[in-house]
Amino acid sequence: MTGKITFVGAGPGAPDLITLRGAARLASADLVIYAGSLVNEKLLELAPHARCVNSAKIALHEVIALMRENFEAGRQVVRLHTGDPAIYGAVAEQYRELDALGIPYEVVPGVSSAFAAAAELKVELTMPGLSQSVILTREAGRTPVPPGEELEKLASHGTTLCIFLSVSGIPDLCRKLVAAGRPPETPAAVVYRASWPNQTIIRGTLADLAAKVEAAGIHRQSMIVVGDILNRSGELSCLYDRNFSHGYRSSDRSRSFQGKTAIFALTARAACKAAEIAAGLDDAVIVLPEKHAELVPAMRLRSYPDGGFGNAFRRCWNEFDGLVMVMAAGIVIRHVTELCESKLHDPAVVVCDERGTHAISLLSGHLGGANRLASDVARITGGEAVITTASDLRRLAAFDEVAARYHYKPIDPAVLTGFAAALLEDGEEFDLEMPPELFQQCYSANSRFHFSGPGDGNSFRIRRRKDGKELVFRKRRIALGIGCRRNVAAAELRVAAQEILEKHGFRLSEISCVASADVKKEETGLREFAEKLQKRLEFFSANELNAVEVPDPSPAAEEHLGIRSVSEAAALLAAGPGARLVIPKTSRENLTVALAMEGDEND
Ligand code: SAH
Repeated sequence: MTGKITFVGAGPGAPDLITLRGAARLASADLVIYAGSLVNEKLLELAPHARCVNSAKIALHEVIALMRENFEAGRQVVRLHTGDPAIYGAVAEQYRELDALGIPYEVVPGVSSAFAAAAELKVELTMPGLSQSVILTREAGRTPVPPGEELEKLASHGTTLCIFLSVSGIPDLCRKLVAAGRPPETPAAVVYRASWPNQTIIRGTLADLAAKVEAAGIHRQSMIVVGDILNRSGELSCLYDRNFSHGYRSSDRSRSFQGKTAIFALTARAACKAAEIAAGLDDAVIVLPEKHAELVPAMRLRSYPDGGFGNAFRRCWNEFDGLVMVMAAGIVIRHVTELCESKLHDPAVVVCDERGTHAISLLSGHLGGANRLASDVARITGGEAVITTASDLRRLAAFDEVAARYHYKPIDPAVLTGFAAALLEDGEEFDLEMPPELFQQCYSANSRFHFSGPGDGNSFRIRRRKDGKELVFRKRRIALGIGCRRNVAAAELRVAAQEILEKHGFRLSEISCVASADVKKEETGLREFAEKLQKRLEFFSANELNAVEVPDPSPAAEEHLGIRSVSEAAALLAAGPGARLVIPKTSRENLTVALAMEGDEND
């Protein structure tokens, strides 16, 4: 029986900065060969059964001989290196020797001292506008630095520098950087023994750092960081910019899919892709055969026994608004055929290949939102959305798609199909009565559409010029349920509600009413809040509220008020029959908020 050799990055010093995998290898090690003074010997306590050898005291060929002998004897060997083994770890020659001997090994990374120092300095090494690169380097010592990599040359780029193994020559080093054109006032810092109990941080500039370091008596084991990023004066990152959309953020929420999504996968690769997609959607679970359950986070997982795909799919069909199927389209089509009924009720179905190259909107493209869901999935995977609805290809905003996106429902769904067909006929023209912003955004660019007025704010109306037929959509009732402590201020309610709604892509102005429990009738803050918004305030009795089934009842409210749920139940009641929660109960210090939207059954 042969053993196992693992190179492990020990991290910068603090014993709890080793990785979980590194610690697990130590726990089962029979032999630990650790690299000298910068590996914290406290880490050896994680290897209670191991013989421990300090490699500073032995030569390379002895280290290799030790590894080989123990490997052949079937033992677990850990070679423990400071920081991350890939940076000045002198591991390449060990890998080479082991390769030559045909002995396998694995490598576990660690936290490099460059990153531990950045953490202690609380800086970002790459700040927009200042530096978007980091150079990890060193001054020549016993190991020479190849020509072209002299500090003067590297410094001329103006990028952030992390300099290892060089603090003993810091006066010379700072002089060289200034000679290379870095202004003397450039900020620079030294972190001595980052993350160790005797860590010391010295901050200064290229002009005065050396003197400060000498005065502190620091000569070794330090990271030198140089660059304007130390002043943290760079530009804001685009990452949190509201107008910037990337894989995990979409700048226009009304264009994203809204609702609960179940992501199905059958193979291990597809399960990993499903996890990637789930992390980018608002509210998604992953449905997998039990054998792949380990591959995704438990909080998102729903598993079924092998062979249970059909049942799991049927169950999710009614429960979820969207289904993303990471598998062959054929499998999906066979299962969808027996379930699909009407475009008013069927969930959005998107098929995606396991590489995420194509996200195909398969069913309920407009009303159900599958086109939007396919676009979301493609944005997350970096793939392409495959959309086959003609109106989208011709960049025409389909009436039912616009309605679904802005939470309207058709009053007479039977006429939808005729209007969808008419939209695709070039000769057809329409008069549209709708909020002007909506017209502006969706229809003003095309001369076939004519604005005929803003309407009543609660509906929009489309008239076919050819025959005068009308298609009318009515805004769904959206009810904001609120539970609050006594004497909560109107402003507090407003700020919290606005923030919570925005996170889910809604605006306060969109809601139809505010709802709460009878016992809150005299809350002036709540009244003022609704009045300022110019929204109706509705109250429900404890009996009415307790009759509503809610996902997240509150034991505290039950004890104090005899009501199991205020915000969720009130929102659901106020939004009318068939309502569903679009924002589940969200708590802030003095209040809870939930949002419900009228469903389809209320026709
Ligand atoms: N592989 C290690 C570097 C080994 S070379 C890593 O990734 O961090 C040794 C040099 O690393 C030291 O001279 C010093 O410059 C730096 N170093 C290692 N541990 C450090 C620590 N805790 N604080 C500051 N610098 C450290």
